[in-house]
Amino acid sequence: MEDRASAPAAPAAARPVGGAATLADARAQLAAAVELLGYDRGTYELLAAPRREVTVSIPLRRDDGSVEVLTGHRVQHNYSRGPGKGGVRFSPQVDLDEVRALAMWMTWKCALLDVPYGGAKGGVRIDPRQCSTAELERVTRRFTSEISPLIGPTQDVPAPDVGTDEQTMAWMMDTYSVGAGHTVLGVVTGKPVALGGSLGRASATSRGVVHVALAALGHLGLDPRRSTAAVQGFGKVGRGTARFLAEAGVAVRAVSDQDGAVAALDGAGGPGLDVAALEAHVDATGSVAGFRGGVRVTGEELLAADVDLLVPAAVEGVLHEGNAADVRARLVVEGANGPTTAAADALLAERGVLVVPDILANAGGVIVSYFEWVQANQAYWWSEDEVESRLADRMTSAWDQVLAQSQRHGVDLRAAATSLAVQRVTEAHVLRGLYP
Ligand code: GLU
Repeated sequence: MEDRASAPAAPAAARPVGGAATLADARAQLAAAVELLGYDRGTYELLAAPRREVTVSIPLRRDDGSVEVLTGHRVQHNYSRGPGKGGVRFSPQVDLDEVRALAMWMTWKCALLDVPYGGAKGGVRIDPRQCSTAELERVTRRFTSEISPLIGPTQDVPAPDVGTDEQTMAWMMDTYSVGAGHTVLGVVTGKPVALGGSLGRASATSRGVVHVALAALGHLGLDPRRSTAAVQGFGKVGRGTARFLAEAGVAVRAVSDQDGAVAALDGAGGPGLDVAALEAHVDATGSVAGFRGGVRVTGEELLAADVDLLVPAAVEGVLHEGNAADVRARLVVEGANGPTTAAADALLAERGVLVVPDILANAGGVIVSYFEWVQANQAYWWSEDEVESRLADRMTSAWDQVLAQSQRHGVDLRAAATSLAVQRVTEAHVLRGLYP
């Protein structure tokens, strides 16, 4: 007779995890937008699946002579409105489903901000913190070489993302150019300024986050000079966000990175963390951890901080079913891609927390990537002021459009932003028609 007590428990309803969960959320957002717009099932299916994707093996020769084989992906979700566009991330969490979700979000982001691109994303499953610079260069060059038939200024234009930076883009540009036999500046964006990068690109995502954060605070009737914020992540996005928020008079009360989190020592009405001193500490030590001008807190405490504004600016899925009810901020502005799961989105909405979605909030990066690509293709460089003011105009106008769409349809800002984007992509697709 079967011993029921020791029989394996029936698997709980299979719940996606990791990249599969991220992709399921992205597809659910698309489905909601398709429904709001009254489009048919075929439109959903067309937009739910990537147009093209490639998985490559990257043999990496480590500095000690050993060889490891890594996996990389490049997914082109859609190119109805122009070439693919989107970052390349180096992270141990990378999997194909995650890259598919991120590529889909790039399509919406580019359409929402009306930059003439589709969406794409790439990733290599690797922990860049465990690599020397020489190893990172070898990985980057081999990955670029493997995906080079797919990329190019008119095909698909990579950029930095989690775990990659200007130097990565310089290596990608060089590898592609060596293959082409001439320098192709427009093949990637987010390059160093000395190598065809744009002034204002490095700070663009953070500036954009702060443009919409200030607009959203104003919408809620909050004066930035009396507002408080917590920022999760102190890398390419979070660091500048903390700085520009402080410059706008917002008291930054807590920040975190992969190694720790710190909160301001002063009382609730105080000026918050000294962000300039914190930046100097990070430059000296590589992390916010151990900053003398603050008190150590946990990452979960940071997400639950008693502040007006919370900016998750690290990775996806950090606000989930298990912690969304603890969020005390009135406003969440998504500096990262996909930081709020669908379950958390629902919990936050129930509690009246306003969430400004990633495809709007962090679009400053791809906007200035577009400016960089335009400048590279024309071989004519703009001033920093020109870049900054065009960035501000685009971010504010997108915020106005998303808010109007949300009021028109009585939906949250994510559904408003996604539906505007899906509408634009579908219009382009319908005008082009199906071939054959
Ligand atoms: N990786 C950034 C993003 O997720 C920038 C992409 C780009 O500039 O192409 O938006």
